[in-house]
Amino acid sequence: MNDYYDVLIIGGGPGGAMAGKTVAEAGLSCCIIEKRPAIGTPVRCAEGVGQEIFDFIDLDPKWVSAKIRGAELVAPNGQVIELGSKIAGNEVGYVLDRKMFDRELIWRAAKAGCEVYVKTRAVDAIREDGVVKGARVEYAGELRNISAKIVIAADGIESKFARWCGIDSTVPMNELETCVEYLMTDIDIDSSVNVFYLGNELAPEGYVWIFPKGERTANVGIGISGKKCRDGSRPKDYLDRFVQQKFPDGKIIELIVGGVSACRPLATTVADGLMIVGDAARVSDPLTGGGILNAMYTGKLAGAVASECIKEGDLTAAALKKYDVVWRESAMGKGIERNYQIKEIMIRLSDQKMNSILSSVQKLDLERIGTKEIVKELIKFNPWLLKEINSLKKILG
Ligand SMILES: Cc1cc2nc3c(=O)[nH]c(=O)nc-3n(C[C@H](O)[C@H](O)[C@H](O)COP(=O)(O)OP(=O)(O)OC[C@H]3O[C@@H](n4cnc5c(N)ncnc54)[C@H](O)[C@@H]3O)c2cc1C
Repeated sequence: MNDYYDVLIIGGGPGGAMAGKTVAEAGLSCCIIEKRPAIGTPVRCAEGVGQEIFDFIDLDPKWVSAKIRGAELVAPNGQVIELGSKIAGNEVGYVLDRKMFDRELIWRAAKAGCEVYVKTRAVDAIREDGVVKGARVEYAGELRNISAKIVIAADGIESKFARWCGIDSTVPMNELETCVEYLMTDIDIDSSVNVFYLGNELAPEGYVWIFPKGERTANVGIGISGKKCRDGSRPKDYLDRFVQQKFPDGKIIELIVGGVSACRPLATTVADGLMIVGDAARVSDPLTGGGILNAMYTGKLAGAVASECIKEGDLTAAALKKYDVVWRESAMGKGIERNYQIKEIMIRLSDQKMNSILSSVQKLDLERIGTKEIVKELIKFNPWLLKEINSLKKILG
């Protein structure tokens, strides 16, 4: 490990890997440090991605567990709404094998020339006069300072790097979805359909998911609002009740826990000498929790802007801001804002109102009409929804 790189990347997830590959391909020196001893494990993910995955990487069967052709929403009253490929968007595509996938991304970064060090943890930021100059790193039992022209914080949901650099990255408890997931086998499922169960009794301010991993095998998980977690009503308690009822004979062969942010992205994702990507930037989808592709997109973009700014010799926040502006104006950035507002409405709905909304969704030709028409039609069937939307507008400003 050198003492100096053009770009130092904290975190070896999809965001960090894409940033590293992009910077190395631009001919600059870079290094990814990952605190875990192995890339990709333990998996903390339901592993679902949409077709947009092909914007970043060619399909390779070695990291695909299942191809998904549709999604089903199950309303609190048990009514099933089938969603085809167009409207289900990100929920139609693939269920990955992230152990393999994350490694593949890192291998590609390494092949492009980016150095990678596992079991290497950033423990603090190095700053001079407020400018980020590198990171203090624990490597092979030793503490050392690694300097860099730009540091890219790709350290995921538990990100501390941005905070060390003076950026408030706190996720409010009520916007942190706490998740538990089982990998289950020996269960009756349609292995090409992702299923989502909604309802305040089942998963308050969240949902239960079944994402197939192959024949009779699936990730079965739950995310609920952190503020709803109490003794006897923790995510695992809800999930155990669901599994007991739905798959009483299924076998649990893996358990994971994790958090997903359901807040708006950070107010800024750049500072002098610093860029923040993926979950660390809070760019996962506030409605679905999906963040793999958003991490890949922001990682790649940050890598490109960092390389450009280094070549131009301007590492100021003003120069790096281009990254922040581009992702906020992208389809991803706009989608996050739209889904944040939908989520804010959803979490306020009683089960009865949710049933009513989902029942009218079933009457619409979702494949043919746009978002605005969908909202208009939903209001026609559920006039009370207009009041909910207007009061929400006042809250969100
Ligand atoms: C239960 C659950 C289910 C999910 N399901 C889906 C899904 O189906 N689809 C989807 O798209 N998304 C899903 N997500 C979200 C998805 O996993 C993340 O959005 C995605 O992994 C973000 O990528 P990232 O590179 O930003 O962060 P991460 O993948 O979290 O990578 C960050 C890396 O940084 C490392 N790190 C942290 N701190 C340091 C440090 N100080 N020094 C060095 N390394 C450090 C971590 O060990 C980690 O490897 C789910 C998340 C959870 C918890």
